[in-house]
Amino acid sequence: MDCSVCTSMPVQLRPPRNTICGACYEGARSLISFINKLEAAQGIDKANLCKNLTNVSRWVIDMKESSHQLNEKIKFLSGFVVAFRDQIHTDIQLSSGAKGPPIPAHRALLAIRSEIFSNILDSDGCKAPPNDDTITLPELNNEELESLLEFLYSGDLPEERMSKQVYSLSLAADKYGITYLQKLCERHMLKSLSSSNALDVLEVADTCSFLTLKENALDFIVKNMQEIVFSAKYDAFAIKNPHLSVQITRASLMDTKKIVLISTAYMYIGSGILAR
Ligand SMILES: [Zn+2]
Repeated sequence: MDCSVCTSMPVQLRPPRNTICGACYEGARSLISFINKLEAAQGIDKANLCKNLTNVSRWVIDMKESSHQLNEKIKFLSGFVVAFRDQIHTDIQLSSGAKGPPIPAHRALLAIRSEIFSNILDSDGCKAPPNDDTITLPELNNEELESLLEFLYSGDLPEERMSKQVYSLSLAADKYGITYLQKLCERHMLKSLSSSNALDVLEVADTCSFLTLKENALDFIVKNMQEIVFSAKYDAFAIKNPHLSVQITRASLMDTKKIVLISTAYMYIGSGILAR
């Protein structure tokens, strides 16, 4: 079809050169709907929402400018990481549960990022201030402690480290009340859910009360029951988490019941059609 938008030779089209193909039409509609959704979320009045493509280029330029400003802001704020890596004016040390030298950090940053650290550091708080200026996080090893601190300073972690340490970081985020890290860990586990990690994800989601993640993991296990429940990993999981094993069994039975009900309904519909 002659399309005045995506053709490489628009001059060859027959006048009035105003037809567009299905793909370009759908693309334009989705673009308008996407912009409207974002603008409505910003509280823009319904009457002023985008109705055609006239303002799309202005909108894209504005978005690019705002993204550029955000990047500059992030660059400005990332000075904290430099202070951590170069150990500039550090005033507290953090130790892991494993052997290894403590890692120097900054009291103010720890207190801002976590209410629990704030309580530990606050002499007027419910907990006593740390002895000899060292806080110990016994549940983490050295590598995990380094990652936690790097995250607290930069708000980010390389994908590879996140994949390797996501369970211990989730538990630490839960224990020390670091909401943003909890969200990132939950999103990461949801994205990487598979037969090989579904039981670990379910266990962490249950401990950290990640409700959506727990629901997704349970659903995934039920859908891949044979592969997961008959694996060697499940034996150890069931001994450690009897309550979760009960929940898996119940979810599986409910799922089977649902399938039987749907099949019976189809059977009745089918026999009704045949009887006519
Ligand atoms: Zn087209």
